[in-house]
Amino acid sequence: MDPLIITAAITGSRTPREKCPHIPILPEEIAASAVEAVHAGASVVHLHVRDPSTGLGTKSEALYREVLDRIADAGVDPVLSLTTSGIPGRNLAVEERFVPLALRPELASFDAGSLNVGDGVFLNPPEFLEELARRLKAAGVKPELEIFDTGMVGTCLDLLRRGLLDPPLHFQFVLGVSGGAPATPAALLHLVSSLPEGSTWSAFGVGVGHLPILLTTLALGGHVRVGLEDNVYYRRGQLARSNAQLVERAVRLARELDRPVATPAEARRLLSLDH
Ligand code: ZN
Repeated sequence: MDPLIITAAITGSRTPREKCPHIPILPEEIAASAVEAVHAGASVVHLHVRDPSTGLGTKSEALYREVLDRIADAGVDPVLSLTTSGIPGRNLAVEERFVPLALRPELASFDAGSLNVGDGVFLNPPEFLEELARRLKAAGVKPELEIFDTGMVGTCLDLLRRGLLDPPLHFQFVLGVSGGAPATPAALLHLVSSLPEGSTWSAFGVGVGHLPILLTTLALGGHVRVGLEDNVYYRRGQLARSNAQLVERAVRLARELDRPVATPAEARRLLSLDH
């Protein structure tokens, strides 16, 4: 099996500190948590930034730059995956979603369709996806294709056929979001079976589905994402202390399976980012 790429999703846009006192909010906290996750074994860090005054997600280029500078200053060089998602509760101008591309990350999230989530709509209409694909291509940023439900794989294959996405594709399965595919091994197996040959893939379950998806993914040879963006609990009733704690568990499980953990350089090779 390939070495395991562990992505650490450091903070997301929405989890408030009241729900988890360890969620990083300030740029120095986000950077420090990312660096700690890399030292623990993460080779990719998936980043959002938060507005220090509200604690919620923002698309500030200056805040992204500060976080990235602090990570570089700490002497680590993970693959950076920046979000292009919207912000819950805010009607974001489309252009704002492209702001993180100015930082020239190696990866950026590509939410491959719309979804009803709770009483809202996670909106990613076709014209937005086409424009995002064009912007990513122009910026030389590889899309991390976030798949919340089965039909979104078909959307990506259509964009591939039309030349808006380039192979090899990299997928991130986001399972257990209300309104999306469930975080079950059966759902994951079905999704993996629908990928074109030569693709790479990673997966995670949110909430209670986290461990079943982590273990199934390790066994199938996929890559994994862990972190406080997706899951603030270490186990039932016990909050995670840090992103690094969640990375350390993935490293231990990989070792039990004789699966080596990828360095950032190996992650770049596996994701075809090293040329
Ligand atoms: Zn995210």
